[in-house]
Formats: sequence, C-alpha cells, structure tokens
Amino acid sequence: MAAQETVDHKYVYDFSEGNKDLKDLLGGKGANLAEMTNLGLPVPPGFTITTEACQAYLATGREPDGLAGQIEKHLESLERAMGKRLGDPQDPLLVSVRSGAKFSMPGMMETVLNVGLNDQSVQGLARQASGEGSQAASGGADRFAWDSYRRLIQMFGKTVCEVPGEEFEHALDEAKNAKGTSNDLDLDADDLRGLVDAYKKIFVKHTGREFPQQPREQLDLAIRAVFESWNAERAVLYRRQERIPADLGTAVNVVSMVFGNLGPDSGTGVAFTRDPGSGAQGIYGDYLANAQGEDVVAGIRNTVPLQELEQLDKSSYDELLGIMARLEEHYKDLCDIEFTIERGKLWMLQTRVGKRTAAAAFVIAGQLVDEGLIDLDEALHRVNGAQLAQLMFPRFQLDHEFEAVAKGIGASPGAASGKVVFTSARAVELAAEGESVILVRRETNPDDLNGMIAAKGILTSRGGKTSHAAVVARGMGKTCVSGADEIDVNVPAKRFTVAGQTVNEGDVVSIDGTTGKVYLGEVPVMPSEVVQYFEGSLDPEHIDNALVRAVHRIMTHADGKRRLAVRTNADTGADAARARRFGAEGIGLCRTEHMFLGDRRELVERLILARAEGEREAALAALLPLQRADFEEIFREMDGLPVTVRLIDPPLHEFLPPLEQLAVNVAVAQERGEDVAKEEALLAAVRRMHEENPMLGLRGVRLGLVIPGLFAMQVRAIAEAAVSCARGGGVAKPEIMVPLVGAVQELETVRTEAEKIIAEVVGDSGVEVLIGTMIEVPRAALTAGQIAEAAEFFSFGTNDLTQMGWGFSRDDVEGAFFWRYLELGIFGISPFESIDRDGVGRLVRIAAEEGRAARPGLKLGVCGEHGGDPDSVHFFHEVGLDYVSCSPFRVPVARLEAGRAVVETGGSDSR
Ligand code: PEP
Ligand code: MG
Repeated sequence: MAAQETVDHKYVYDFSEGNKDLKDLLGGKGANLAEMTNLGLPVPPGFTITTEACQAYLATGREPDGLAGQIEKHLESLERAMGKRLGDPQDPLLVSVRSGAKFSMPGMMETVLNVGLNDQSVQGLARQASGEGSQAASGGADRFAWDSYRRLIQMFGKTVCEVPGEEFEHALDEAKNAKGTSNDLDLDADDLRGLVDAYKKIFVKHTGREFPQQPREQLDLAIRAVFESWNAERAVLYRRQERIPADLGTAVNVVSMVFGNLGPDSGTGVAFTRDPGSGAQGIYGDYLANAQGEDVVAGIRNTVPLQELEQLDKSSYDELLGIMARLEEHYKDLCDIEFTIERGKLWMLQTRVGKRTAAAAFVIAGQLVDEGLIDLDEALHRVNGAQLAQLMFPRFQLDHEFEAVAKGIGASPGAASGKVVFTSARAVELAAEGESVILVRRETNPDDLNGMIAAKGILTSRGGKTSHAAVVARGMGKTCVSGADEIDVNVPAKRFTVAGQTVNEGDVVSIDGTTGKVYLGEVPVMPSEVVQYFEGSLDPEHIDNALVRAVHRIMTHADGKRRLAVRTNADTGADAARARRFGAEGIGLCRTEHMFLGDRRELVERLILARAEGEREAALAALLPLQRADFEEIFREMDGLPVTVRLIDPPLHEFLPPLEQLAVNVAVAQERGEDVAKEEALLAAVRRMHEENPMLGLRGVRLGLVIPGLFAMQVRAIAEAAVSCARGGGVAKPEIMVPLVGAVQELETVRTEAEKIIAEVVGDSGVEVLIGTMIEVPRAALTAGQIAEAAEFFSFGTNDLTQMGWGFSRDDVEGAFFWRYLELGIFGISPFESIDRDGVGRLVRIAAEEGRAARPGLKLGVCGEHGGDPDSVHFFHEVGLDYVSCSPFRVPVARLEAGRAVVETGGSDSR
C-alpha cells in the first residue's frame, strides 16, 4: 500500500475509538483491546498506532508526517486519564510498547515494557510503590522499581539497539551466583541497582552511547523498533511459512503499565475459555504470582494452575471467570486471555479468538451450536479440510523423544513403521508372512505397484508431491515420504545410508507422511477414530465421543449444503468400495494402466513386438476378458453411480524393461553364446520407442491413434462389462474418457470408432455409455468450444495442465528447485498441490465457459490431484464445475470443503 502522508490522515486510535473488526488497521491485539475497552472491561488505557503508519515507515524509512503530533496528543490524553506524566521524576507514568499484527505471529516481533523509567523516575516509582495501602514494604518497593528499570534496559537494549540478549542474561546469572541463589526473587534492591549499572555498561559497550534518559526518546525509538521488527528475519520466515502477506505491517500498542510484580497480591496469567487441545469445557490456564508476563514465557519460575488463584485472590478469580464467560458469549468462540493483577486489581492485557487443535476445532464448533451461540453454517465455516485430513491419519505416539534422521516431502500423510525392503517382490513376500514393511526406493515406477500395495509405507529419496510414489500412495491412502534426499539408497546392496548410519533390509524404520520425517526404529502408531467413523465401524449416535459426534454433525450439514458432487479416483474394486463408504458419489477417474502390469506384461510385450496383424489382435483378444473382469468388479462396487474410465494414458515403453537393464542382459547372454533372439527383438523395440520427453510423446490419445485396436479393445471391455452388470440386475453407468486430447479431430476419430463398438455391444440392454475427454493439454482448454462438440463431458486433468501450463516436469521440479521459488515468493504453495488460479485456473475457467457455451449442460469435473485440495475445491465451486474427483481418503475433505464453499460465498445452494 502506498504511504499516506497527509497531515490529516489518522494514524493513532485511542482504545475507545476502535473495535474488533478493525484488525487490518489496528492489528489483532489493538482491535481486541479496543473491543474489550468498549465492553467496559478493565483494560489499562492506551492507544494504537496503525498498520498504515508502519507500512509508510517501512516504505520510506521515516515516520509519516503527522504521526509524531498525533502520538503527542494521544499521550497527553493518556497522561490526563492516568493523572501522571510519562517519566515524571516524582510519579511516573510508564507504558509498554507492543507489536500487534493482523494475524498473530507469536514471539516473532518485539515488546518493550516500562518505557519512561530513567535514573530519576526509578526513584519516583519506588516511592509510589511503597505508597499507602501497598503490601510492598519500602524495601520491596525499591526492589520492584530497580527490577523494572533493569528490565527496561534489557528489553530496550536487545530490541531497539540490538545488544546481544545473552550478555544481559549472563550478568543476571552472575548477580544470582554472587548471591548464591538461582531465584531472581532473592535479589534485593541493592543487587538490582548493581545490575542496572552492569546493564548500562553493556549498553554503552555495544551502542557507544549512554542509555537514553529522555522518556519521549525511549518511546519513539521503541515504536520504531517495533515497526522494524516486522522485517526481522524470523518474522519474515514465519510469514512465509504461514502464508501471511508480507506487506501488512504491524500496529503498535502503547499501553499504561500495570504491574504483576508488586508483591504477593500481584501476579500475571494466561487463560483459555475452553481446552484448546480437546475442546472440553472447563477452566484452563496458568498463574504466576508476583511476576510480569515475560516471566511466564521465559519459564523463570513454575506457574500454578489457574484454579489456585481462587485461594490466593477470590475476588479477582471470580471477576476473571465472569469476564471469560462474557468474552465467550461476545466473541462466540474460544478466547485466550492474558491478564495481570496489580495489588488485587484485575487488568485484561489481551484477548483473541484462540488457536486450537484440529480435534478441538470440531468439538468446539459442535458445542457452540448446542449452546445456541452459532448456527451450523457458522460451525461449518469454523472448521476446514486440512483439520479434517489431520484427524484422518494414524498418528505417531511421540511420547518420548524420537529424533528424525532425515526429512523429505510429506507426500501422503499418515504414520507407518515397518521393516525396510528395497524391492517390490520382497515387500510382497514379507507382507505375506504378516510383517509390516516400508518399501524404500530411489523412486517408484508402475512396476512397484504390488510392493506398494503390500507395504505399510513408501519412502523414496527422489521425487516430489506428484511423483509416481506420491500420487499412487495418496490414491491408496498409504503413508509416503518422497524426496528424502539425505537418504542414499543402494538397491543391489539392499541398504541405505543416512546421517552416517547404514540401514539394512529387515531393519525397522518409521515414516511420517505429514511432516516428511524419517525415524530409525519403531515409533508406536494409533489409528484414527474419525476414519473408523467414516468406515462405518463407529456409530456417532451411540458412542460417547465428542469428536466423532461433532464430525458427523458438521459433515451432514456440509453434504446438505454443497452443490459440487464428490467422486473418487479409484482403479480397483477395493478402492472403489472404500471411497464409497467415505461418501464418493461415483468414480471420476479410473486409470486403466495398472491393468497392463503383472502377469499381463507379457501380453503387452506381444502387443508391442507384433509385426503381423494377427499377432497384435491375438494379444488384444487375450487382454479383453481380463480388462472386462476388472471393469465388472468396479461397476459392481459403484452400482448405480457413474464411473469414468480413462483409456490407457502412459507411453507403452513404461511397460517394458528399462533400456539399460535389457542391454546389459542381452550383452551378457550373447557373451555366453545363448539364444537371445527374443530379447534382441525386445531391445530393438525399446530403442525404437525411446523418447527424450516421454511426457510429451507417444501417450494418451496418440497411442490410441497409432496402435490399431488398443482403444477399441478397452472400449469393448467397458461396454461388455456394463452390459454384463445390467444383465445381473445392476446399474452400470460408464463414461469413457479419452486422455491428452489437444484437438477435436483426435477425439472425433476415437469417438467414431468407439460409438460403433458400443452400439454393437450394448444393443437393447439399456446401458448408456457417455464419451468425453480430459482437458489437460493447454490447447484443449483454448479450443474447448470445438472439443465440446465431440464430448459429452470434460474432466480437467490439472496435473498435466499444470505441467504443460507452467512447463514444469511434474516428476522432477518439486524436489529440484521449488524450495527456491517458495523462498522468492514466486508462489506460496506448489501449483501441483493447489491450483494456480491466475494461470492454470484461467485455462479451466475459459474451457468451462467455452465448453458450456458450445454444449449447454456439458458435464464438467476435475480429476487431477487438485480435486482434493481445499482451496482448489473452492475454486472449482466458483467456476461452476459439477464435481471434483479425488483419492478415496480425500473424499470427506472435498465434501466438507464443497459445503464450506457454499457457506463462504454466502450462497444458499443446497442439493
Ligand atoms: C491429470 O493429468 O491431471 C490426470 C488426472 O491424469 P494423470 O495424473 O494420470 O496424468
Ligand atoms: Mg494426465
């Protein structure tokens, strides 16, 4: 935002002028202090300097015109309200200067307390503290005043002048050692006076000047330091991680000091209106007598549970509980609170809607509905898919410290422990013996499928979130860590090395697919109750589990609200069945490639090596019944629901042995004088089919146009399976999908052939087969109007659309250099994970509009990985798609987010 430097521009707000909705301008802390002030709660008077002032300062390197005068004016009125002057030698007003951005950034930015103390006013403060009615004896008052002064020098030095904090801490330790104590309370006024001298010397040593004695100079420098702390390295890092925009700036709160360290009738504490861990109702908090807030954070002494305040100071305790109830009622949410008691008088220093765990978010939303504070729409708004996803994964019980030995990409969440194996075959063998195994590979390929199915988890040293391992593992709901590049995998030697240690086949490792962390040895794992509920093994009406009941209630509401249907990506009957239990309303993508693996590989080789017509046809004829059986199983599981089957997509050489391996085998066999005619033919075929850029080569519809009979066989298998289901009394609703189409002519050619086969097979069975296409090549998106003429539906393949839209190889780039792009802020999240709304999203939007313009009512869906990403689901809702399709485990997340999308756009859509 541009600096706004008119003299009239308002940069400073008294607490009585703001409210909780002004977070952009006053930051979270300032807005909520204003709200509490206006509720009549006991907030120490103060004012807030706006984020706009900070933005202007950061843009120009100086305070905007008018700011100094406005601070002066507000300071004067604060002095009038308190009946004291800042730094007055007799009776000083002291203030705290605290940061407060729109989004809470705990501990990231700066605070300076006790501003206004100097060599004179410290005496005045001591006299005040020993005043009438005080429990602090005059010795205690002296002690308090000097302690406050040394805190100011310490915080000011560290924050404003970058004096290394350890030097102050060291001096404090020395003072305690000299006294033979480890407790700061044992230091008396003389000790602290000595410490102030020591601190001042440290200050001079590092800054070359005396500690400033002018209160107003202290205040101005502290405000400036808080502005600048917005760009401190740790704050920048935190914002990037939390995706907080870099240009918001922080507000600065100048608040009259109240003291929790004035004696045993004073203290400070934090409280939550409900348990932020579980959501349970009750009183949660900590209290520390005779202390200031930073002592609690620094852990200088042990706090006591908040309940104990009832014995120490019943009237403050009762008042606090009353205020907490009032705040919850007012904010209609869990609040967290910071408070101080100064000589028996309670002061509220902060409140905000409190952070909470995923479980607490659901439980609290459910409770607030029960209490009539919010409605179900609001409850739905208050939870999110990322939280639900967290609740669906088994978790490690990291009770005692397990140290990770490597960290890769959390590619498919969950927690898995098992014996390390390096080949698919060994994974299958050991799993058959009842062992849990972790399949470790440099990267996986379609050949590893059986091993991946058998394994509890998959660990690779290469590849990103859309690598083969990641996509397939997510599809199976299996834990996967990919791209753990500290791990050096040696498959022939059956071992990997990491952090100087060697892990052999059979050794146990544990992997966390959420954090990407890898542990040596077994970490115990707990199953998810929420998954048990989705699977139907926990009945929410009959169990005493607040979380499961809340999830059930909110999911039911989301289903009632959402306009988007949710389908699943599933290639097997088992996956289809599970997804259906999770609420899938059909299959949006059945990838048929795995149906060409295993013992069918030989048939694929025959198909590729065929020279004469008859050979190819024989191979296809042998594949036909196998494919038909695959489809029958899936149609059965999805009885009555649509099933989109995609014709074969990957380049065929993926189904042949790797070139290098084959070349070595042939050379060795030749050396031995063996008959290698067959292998040679295979090698020649692999060489012939070798491509430099296979992702842009002979795949998808191109295969169907080049290899006669291949698509025809698949179309026939689909149609026959549907008819067989119908004859058995079921309802199959196949939708045949053609991959990688870029021009309508490609689709028309496939369609003409397919329609003939379908007509012949379906006859009068009543089966209806739709034919549509993926939109995953940018040209298809840009010519969607033409393509729609030949398509009954579009399904956006946003993985390839992202790959080709950005020109990013989906198997390589995430691990290779995305870290740098994220660091530079070119994007805040991988575009393979969450849809790039401006670029790839624009292609989706254009294709949806032009497709529907050419063919009104054209069915639109998405089946790329983005179909299960919360933010992307909102985008697909906005664009007007009919459904999203995602891996089985993400189906509940997509249902929830599709409901939230309606609530958040203020729509009243319901199904
Ligand atoms: C896509 O490209 O988005 C898609 C779903 O197809 P695949 O991931 O199989 O290439
Ligand atoms: Mg694709």
